[in-house]
Amino acid sequence: MKLKNLTTYIISAILAFAVLYIAVGNLYSGQKNTKTNFALNTYTTITAYGKDSKRASENAASVVADVEARFSAYIDSSEISHINAVQAKDTPIHISDELFYIIKTALDYSHISGGLFDITLKPVSDLWSISQNPRLPSQSEIDKALEHTGYENIILNEQDKTITFLKDGMQLDLGAIAKGYGADLASEEILKNGTKKAIIDLGGNICLIGTNKTPLGAFLDKCFKTDNKKPWRIGIQTPFAPSGTSCAVISVENEDSSKTSVVTSGAYERNFTENGVLYHHILNPKTGYPYNGEIESVTIIGESSMHADALSTTSFMMDIDDALTLVKKQGYDALIIDKDKKIHTTLDKSSVEIVDSLYSFAD
Ligand code: ADP
Ligand code: MG
Repeated sequence: MKLKNLTTYIISAILAFAVLYIAVGNLYSGQKNTKTNFALNTYTTITAYGKDSKRASENAASVVADVEARFSAYIDSSEISHINAVQAKDTPIHISDELFYIIKTALDYSHISGGLFDITLKPVSDLWSISQNPRLPSQSEIDKALEHTGYENIILNEQDKTITFLKDGMQLDLGAIAKGYGADLASEEILKNGTKKAIIDLGGNICLIGTNKTPLGAFLDKCFKTDNKKPWRIGIQTPFAPSGTSCAVISVENEDSSKTSVVTSGAYERNFTENGVLYHHILNPKTGYPYNGEIESVTIIGESSMHADALSTTSFMMDIDDALTLVKKQGYDALIIDKDKKIHTTLDKSSVEIVDSLYSFAD
């Protein structure tokens, strides 16, 4: 073959391949669509891929907005605010099935954590007001507020779907679990819309839906009945570094039509400093002060975002080994960063890439 002919042949082949790639890309992914919002006290980003991506991302975003409207303690018309307004003991309050389910799940985590996870801390967290007007409350203010807390003072009646408080002045705050619940509902909505690939990010509360294949990869798999898995790669935020800085990257394998949640809790997320002391938003129910332990951040990896959310907040307040054991027992994985920049994980180390040399595995 003459050189000129060979060149023409190669160029034609490249062009044909490019056209096929674009055509297949359009067929299998269409386009991607990103919907950003501010909901549940955080920036939310929902990115869906495929031909129905616009509808899917918009519907999923309105599901999240609905969860906020119903379950935020800071929206006067929400169901939670309705409960919080009662403030009288021994008064059964009727609640929706969904809210009953969320509270029941939250109480399960209170039980398994010996009371560290506690959705009744609102009287105390309102004093700290970390997200609005942060301030250091006085000891007597904290002591007084603590008198109106305690998960053990909640009675749920499964049959009547009621909640009863055993103390006056009790109020609920679902801040440690509602984002997870919202991400789970949003994922269901994405799948209901026929979308096969999406990322839901509710302020670091991430849900990965489907496989991370390129359109061509998906096409080739379909034609040749192969399975060229391409894991999702998720950066783990470096504690106290600017948002978006990662100290490690984890690879997450996820199947078609299923989801994996990656949820992080950390002292660096919402805080203020006074007289050189850092005060953050995860409170020790026993003292009413921010929990001061060995952990700087906890990331939980697993199916349900609601469970991962509750587990991340719970684990933050535990000893590292106990936290790893609990998370494993619940069927989830954990990646914990301690204050000495050591990484403890139940994940296979081959799926964790440390990208900041200041950090290393604990063993
Ligand atoms: P983020 O909201 O930053 O994702 P978390 O999921 O860890 O963080 O939840 C922290 C929120 O949960 C706090 O802002 C507060 O509303 C509430 N909270 C604080 N301390 C506790 C606790 N011990 N148990 C349950 N909820 C808590
Ligand atoms: Mg949480």
